Amino acid sequence: MEEKIYSIDPVTEELARKAEKEGIETLWDRKKVMKTPCGFGEQGLCCRICAMGPCRISPTEGKGAQKGICGATADVIIARNLARMIAAGTATHSDHGRDIAHVLHMAKRDGNYKITDEKKLLNLAKEWEVEIENRDIYDIAHEVAEIALNEFGKPFGTLRFLERAPEQRKSVWEKNDIRTGAIDKEIATIMHSTHIGCCADAKDLVHKGMRASLADGWGGSMIGTEFSDILFGVPVPRETEANLGVLEEDQVNIIVHGHEPSLSEMMVLAAEDPELLQLAKEVGAKGINLSGMCCTANEVTMRHGVKIAGNLNQQELAVLTGAVEAIIVDVQCIFPALAPLTKCYHTKFITTSPKAKITGATHMEFEEEKALQSAKEIVREAVLNFKNRDTKKVFIPKTKSHAVVGYSVEAIKSQLDRVVNSQLDEGGTLKPLADCIASGVIRGAAGVVGCNNPKVKHDYGHVELMKELIKNDVIVVTTGCAAQAAAKAGLMSKEARKLAGKGLAKVCELVDIPPVLHMGSCVDISRILVLVSELAKLLKVDISDLPVVGAAPEWMSEKAIAIGTYVVTSGIDTWLGVVPPVTGSDIIVDILTNKAEDIVGAKFHVEPDPHKAAQQMIERIEEKREALGLATEAVEA
Ligand code: SF4
Ligand code: SF4
Repeated sequence: MEEKIYSIDPVTEELARKAEKEGIETLWDRKKVMKTPCGFGEQGLCCRICAMGPCRISPTEGKGAQKGICGATADVIIARNLARMIAAGTATHSDHGRDIAHVLHMAKRDGNYKITDEKKLLNLAKEWEVEIENRDIYDIAHEVAEIALNEFGKPFGTLRFLERAPEQRKSVWEKNDIRTGAIDKEIATIMHSTHIGCCADAKDLVHKGMRASLADGWGGSMIGTEFSDILFGVPVPRETEANLGVLEEDQVNIIVHGHEPSLSEMMVLAAEDPELLQLAKEVGAKGINLSGMCCTANEVTMRHGVKIAGNLNQQELAVLTGAVEAIIVDVQCIFPALAPLTKCYHTKFITTSPKAKITGATHMEFEEEKALQSAKEIVREAVLNFKNRDTKKVFIPKTKSHAVVGYSVEAIKSQLDRVVNSQLDEGGTLKPLADCIASGVIRGAAGVVGCNNPKVKHDYGHVELMKELIKNDVIVVTTGCAAQAAAKAGLMSKEARKLAGKGLAKVCELVDIPPVLHMGSCVDISRILVLVSELAKLLKVDISDLPVVGAAPEWMSEKAIAIGTYVVTSGIDTWLGVVPPVTGSDIIVDILTNKAEDIVGAKFHVEPDPHKAAQQMIERIEEKREALGLATEAVEA
């Protein structure tokens, strides 16, 4: 068989080759044109934050420029660049969280946005000490939303959600002055401190980055997840399908791509609207087939089982099928390349957010005040476009995979209740999981998250790493494009238990789960923080003591850098499959991959080979087990 070049996923490989044969440009072509990446940029050695520059520092000590014109050293330049990446990542997740908080603030009993999960809202209201007795649920919601919106700019105090962490973790943050305050302030402080002539202490800049990253994981992202659950429902396990084979030849295919569920939830409703379904029939289609891409796919599949069209590297390939009437996008991870590409097909590329207009796209602003109407207008545009489909160009790959998705923390607890002895233990807790980990039936847990990156063969890093981990009885939780890689590779089907080690396979059978659990979108990594906090509290230890690890095998975005940083700052060792642009500074490399452990009890590891990374992660898990005095030998399931 011919060797796969682009991807381990047969659908991606097939379509990428089709593009190559037909001379249609994709990300892989543009990557080729880049040839060897700039060595200065790759190592983080260039600075262009003022007009005296751009400056670049020689990678060879004692030879060439050793300082920028202002005197900034390589360490300072790299630390500033890194801090800015963290600030940008934190800003995207936080703006996402802010928008969802606004939507909760506008929710009305007779409006488009309603409260779906009252229990979750009431729990949060209690957590934030909001009066709930004898009050209308919407009044409570609006007060909770206002408190959340204040988290972005409050003048005093630290973030409310930091209180969810175990006491030991809070002390670590307190001791190191990492307890973050207002979300926007942390981002603004980084932009200020990294301005020319401001902070020139590499260590302090990394510290600022760590602090700001908590404003993402325990701030903006957690607000995004909690409020989306309140508005649109807490995910529960449900079946779905994944890969471009979910497109239908005889239906209007609409792909929602981006991040915010405030748009995609309305798209789900609009795609079921009887008038629009009738219109679809009138234009010759059998129906409307909605599917998702990137994190938007994760949001709607977790809550509605909407099919997953693909992950980051597949967005252009979706157009190449010739069967997509519209790609409807909001914010983040949307390739501008879609604009010229969609011009070669009938596909409409529709932007909807004032934050992400793209030249060459059709902009149809999504107005939250009249959300459903707005969504219907957009879907209508897609339906009418079915008439323009050129059937000669249609090529839908046959392959798609079955997956079970929807493992929120609440859903995991409810699955675990299947093995609770109701005479001895109360239900609705993570205790059975803690017991399985403590006894050694499951060795530990790994969060595998992040993007695709053409530096790694598409999905290879994710899938190989996850396979290796589950084979060694490490349960995997996953989000983002990593989750979609797992879904496409069949790792989220219950049949994937046969790929798991004996202990994990047994637990999966008893609890009735796959060995790889889909926990949602990138902001939903905050669910993992909640999960590990509860586990740590149950075992009366810090998060950094738990036999849990994290990995981003194919990361690419600034968001992923912010995520990796808050995961490490929360006490979880994290493996990166792509080298970050920091290697020009020994000091920064030493902090991230070594000294961070003395500060926050965890550090970064860089290992592009997923098999080696898996072995290192397993070793780390075993070290943690030993330190906790847990069974170091695998026990019979
Ligand atoms: S801040 Fe310093 S290193 Fe950066 S571009 Fe300006 S002069 Fe050069
Ligand atoms: S995992 Fe990465 S590429 Fe995928 S949606 Fe999230 S940030 Fe974007």
